[in-house]
Order: sequence, then structure tokens, then C-alpha cells
Amino acid sequence: MTSLDADTARPVAASAALFARALDVTPGGVNSPVRAFRAVGGTPRFMARGSGPYLYDVDGNEYVDLVCSWGPLILGHAHPEVVDAVQRAVSSGTSFGTPALPEVDLAAEIVARTPVEQVRLVSSGTEATMSAIRLARGFTGRDLVVKFAGCYHGHVDSLLVAAGSGVATFGIPGTPGVPQAATASTLVLPYNDVAAVTESFAFYGDQIACVITEAAAGNMGAVAPAEGFNESLSRLCREHGALFVSDEVMTGFRASRSGYWGLDGAVEGWEPDLMTFGKVMGGGFPAAAFGGRKDVMAHLAPIGPVYQAGTLSGNPIATTAGLTTLRLATDDVYARLDEVAGTIAGLVSDALTAAGAPHVVQAAGNLFSAFFVEPDEVPVVRSFDDANRQALHRFKAFFHSMLDQGVYLPPSAFEAWFVSAAHDDQAIDKMAAALPRAAAAAAAARPDEDA
Ligand SMILES: *Cc1c(COP(=O)(O)O)cnc(C)c1O
Repeated sequence: MTSLDADTARPVAASAALFARALDVTPGGVNSPVRAFRAVGGTPRFMARGSGPYLYDVDGNEYVDLVCSWGPLILGHAHPEVVDAVQRAVSSGTSFGTPALPEVDLAAEIVARTPVEQVRLVSSGTEATMSAIRLARGFTGRDLVVKFAGCYHGHVDSLLVAAGSGVATFGIPGTPGVPQAATASTLVLPYNDVAAVTESFAFYGDQIACVITEAAAGNMGAVAPAEGFNESLSRLCREHGALFVSDEVMTGFRASRSGYWGLDGAVEGWEPDLMTFGKVMGGGFPAAAFGGRKDVMAHLAPIGPVYQAGTLSGNPIATTAGLTTLRLATDDVYARLDEVAGTIAGLVSDALTAAGAPHVVQAAGNLFSAFFVEPDEVPVVRSFDDANRQALHRFKAFFHSMLDQGVYLPPSAFEAWFVSAAHDDQAIDKMAAALPRAAAAAAAARPDEDA
């Protein structure tokens, strides 16, 4: 572990000391696995502060942040208006355990931006997908759930099969602690494979409660749905009386003001039956939601029999942060996000090409990532199998070089990269300046360094 740190020109002593303390009191020293740097090695950086496009660690190092808290921070860190709104909300009380105004305003904003008619607010994306699945099963009276390999929907028991994100990062095939009964009712199909979905419906059509998919896959790196893929899922579900659940926890209010649906469904004229949201809608606080048609949502308690609840659901601070963020997320913000994402993706691809590092840079809306695959073999990454053909040692070398030069990338080759509207030209220039050396490191990396 320390051999990688030994190469760094930057101080890491304070992070290393905190990590040692954390390892004593928390498994792996982290509260979410990918943060531990185990896929890339070295010491996880403990952050002390964020401002606009930058993160600052406890050793005083500055980083251009290309993670943005894994998606939520589309306005950048510590946006003054969000901070101000939160401070005012906090001074009026942190939680009431009763209905309150900001949760109604946030629900109305979500309903206005998306095809859902109603939402129920929860505290994490995991709760949102878990509750959406329960509702789909309760509504249809069926048990089977179809999901796609490489898609991650939070750590819901029945969805932790062939999952992306941390599950992919650590190559965990299934997860001990999840009973077989929980996954026995999950059908895992290859992403972007309509024929496989059609076949599954032919066999199990009257048993399938729902198909759940990421609106665009972002948890195996950025993999856009093939033309018409989501539309086909929507149609097949309708034909067989199943519900189509579009998980927009990552893409919602980021890929466009209406999420990824704004880029495909809104144009093609179809709507998911249920949608899940999180990340951006919490403005950096724990808030998430699931929503859909009123006749489906009417099956939820207290008006229907499907139970779902949460002590801090609709929390006034989280909903204030989310609402303020969404109100500031104007068309200009989305235009800037697209521009920044396109610029950075182009710069990364150019640098890797110039250095002779085999790669494919892909985008799904303004989500993007670099895959270290051989473009002759995998010209486009369309599935988890494709994503798994990456030369992980190249990513590792690239990641550490960027980190050492002050650019914070996701510490895994199976994650999308995120930008914010606060990423100004100066931040982009700093990122660009780091690329040649990092690209050369990726090109020179050898698998046997992967110990
Ligand atoms: C992040 C994510 C989740 C889980 O959200 P948490 O808030 O981490 O529980 C679910 N689905 C998708 C698509 C995500 O990206």
C-alpha cells in the first residue's frame, strides 16, 4: 500500500494517520467500500473542505474533483445559495417528524420535471429502489424482478446479483448475507440485450413484477442504453402487465433537467411506470425518492396495503438543500455541465491516444468515463462483459498519476466521472495539465505491477 504513496510528491501523512484511526473503529476504514482505495491501492485521502470544483484534503492538497460526491453536486461544493438556505433551515429546527413545507415543494419540483405523478421521499437511493421493487410486487402480485448485469441499484438484497459499482470493483459475484431466496426471484440479463428480455418474458411473462434498469448505466463506467433499448423495455413490460422501473438515482436531474428520460423517453414518447431518484435531488444531503403513476402509488400505505416508512424521510434540511439545488439547476447549468463533460472527455481521449494507451472514452449524456479496453476488441462498451475486459493496471496507473497531480477521479475503473457547473476553465486547465503524464503512465503500465 505504501509503495504507491512513496511515489507521490504530495504529503499524505495526515490522511494516513486518520485512515489508521478509521481502520480501528470502522471495517476497512470507510463507510462505503469504494472509498477505501482497495482497487487502486494507496491511502484514501480524507477531505477537509470543498469549494466549487475543488476538494482540499487534511494534508492541505488541492484536487480538481471529478467525483462530485458521486453525482449529487451539480453546482459544485459549498454553493453559497445552498449553504445559506441550509443554514437558515437548520436554525428553524432539524427534524419535525411531521409533514412540512420543503418536502411538498421538493415533491412538486420533481413531479414538474419528470413523468411521475407522485413521489414518496426517502433517505437513500437504496431505500428508493427497494421500495419501488416492493411496490411493483405489491401492485402486480408477482415476484420476479429482471435486472441487468453491471447495473447497480443500491445494496438491496434482491438486486445484489451481478451488480456494478463497488460490487464490480471488488469482483464480488454474489454477497454472503443475502439469502438465496432473495436472489432466486431475480433474473439477471445482459445490459442492452433486448432479445434476452424478450425471451425472459416469453418464459416468465406472467410472473415478472418489474424490469429495473439504470436509465443509462453509470455504475460500470458510463454505458449508454442502445438506441431504443429503454423504449423496448417499456413496451415489453406493458405487453406483459409488468412495471418498468427506471432507476435515475444517478442520472436524475443531472443528465438533463428531466434526467436521462429527458433525453430518450421524452423524445420517443414513452414513460416509465416507476422511477427512482437520489443524489442530485438531495443537494449533498441524504434524500431520495421513488415515484410513478397515481394508480400505482395509491398502493402505498397509508392509502394502500404496501408498507413503507422512514423516521427522517422528507427531512427539512435535506429537502431544503435539494430544492435549492434544483431551483438553481437551470438550462444554463445543464448546458454548462454538457460542455464541461464533453471538453474533459475529449481531452482525456486525446491524451490517451497521444500516449498510445489503448482506451475507449464513452459518454451517456453528461456522464462519461474512460475504459482501458483494446478498441480493436471492444470498440464500444455495451455491457458488463465488455467493461470487464479493461486492463485494470492501466486505470490504476492513470488514477494515481492524476491524484498525484491534483485531480481526484473515482478510485475504480467501474464508475462514471462527474463534473459540475462550477468546473470553470481554470479547473479544466489544471486537469488538462495533468493528463500527458497520467496518460503516459497508463500506456507504460504492466499487469505485473498490479500486485
Ligand atoms: C447511487 C445509486 C443508487 C444507490 O443510492 P444510495 O443513496 O447510495 O443508496 C441506486 N441506483 C443508482 C443508479 C445509483 O447510482
